Amino acid sequence: MAGPGRPAAGGRHLRRGGRGREQGRTRGRLWTVHSGRPGQAGGPAARRRRRGGTGTRGAAARRGAAPGRRPRGRLPVPQDMQVQPMLAAAHLLRLARRAGATVLPHEPVTGFLRDGERVTGVRTARRAIPAGSVLNAAGTWAGQLAELAGVRLPVAPRRGFILVTEPLPAIIRHKVYLADYVADVASGSAALQSSPVVEGTRSGTVLIGATRERVGFDAAMSLPALRRLAAGAVQLFPVLRDVAVIRAYRGFRPYCPDHLPVIGPDPRAPGLHHACGHEGAGIGLSLGTARLVAQVLVGDRPDLDTYPFRPERFAPREPNDQHRRI
Ligand SMILES: Cc1cc2nc3c(=O)[nH]c(=O)nc-3n(C[C@H](O)[C@H](O)[C@H](O)COP(=O)(O)OP(=O)(O)OC[C@H]3O[C@@H](n4cnc5c(N)ncnc54)[C@H](O)[C@@H]3O)c2cc1C
Repeated sequence: MAGPGRPAAGGRHLRRGGRGREQGRTRGRLWTVHSGRPGQAGGPAARRRRRGGTGTRGAAARRGAAPGRRPRGRLPVPQDMQVQPMLAAAHLLRLARRAGATVLPHEPVTGFLRDGERVTGVRTARRAIPAGSVLNAAGTWAGQLAELAGVRLPVAPRRGFILVTEPLPAIIRHKVYLADYVADVASGSAALQSSPVVEGTRSGTVLIGATRERVGFDAAMSLPALRRLAAGAVQLFPVLRDVAVIRAYRGFRPYCPDHLPVIGPDPRAPGLHHACGHEGAGIGLSLGTARLVAQVLVGDRPDLDTYPFRPERFAPREPNDQHRRI
């Protein structure tokens, strides 16, 4: 799915040259504002139904409007871009290898090399790797890695499900969000939240997001979450009511309690840097973050003030740190 942050930067890069050209594309985004939330009796139609009226399932549905949720406004963002995350990651890996990087897959970091307080490299089960600087980019597991270095980063898993429909003709040409999505992202609640994000893909399948909940690393499928996704999508696109879902998947977004990522050197463990905690925007923000990290590492002035993202901004350990619940 596309990155909500500043995907244009990543897109421009990925579109430059060779195979990368296939991996970023401009399709635009459309935000819609409706009255009331799915399942809430907020809109005028719902009020009519409560008064014993006929509701909207007739005329409005025939016009393609969402029953009970008349759009009150729309905000198109035509320059918004999308990348396929797996292709983008593979492309970046190719570029890194071409630039001389050695990639050691399936070899997790199990500890840090130290010289006093200073971090001087990492350990894996197979070897010790000395390094002038170490970057913790372990996503949702970044808190666990930081803990190996003796510092606290309260990065917690925020579970999200996606539904995938059977392939359809190209009826959904943009990524369409309900504006409630913004409130869900900004919420600190651990309870299940869901606001529809509906997106057609080149293969014809439609991706339906997005739920958010903090349940640790619980990987079980959740029927209530999937139901909420389906209901939200039908609210936005009644035409999806009779479309089959062929699969669902889930992931764990790396969530920080103040909704900001962690980017920069860690004064509590000199030599250790972090780039993590991007929650639901880590793909879109990846290249911007990488640029900031690179600027700091080579001693250049970063394009952006990284003070709000400093790793030491969090309170000392709290008993309910969720990254410990594996
Ligand atoms: C349902 C869902 C929808 C999303 N939609 C979007 C979207 O539309 N746009 C967007 O921008 N983002 C989206 N995201 C969020 C995005 O996926 C994350 O923000 C992003 O993947 C984080 O990237 P990362 O590189 O920080 O971490 P990851 O991609 O998780 O990578 C971390 C890596 O560190 C490795 N690792 C862990 N522990 C160790 C260790 N001890 N040693 C070595 N390696 C280790 C892991 O194996 C992993 O490969 C979504 C997430 C979900 C779950």
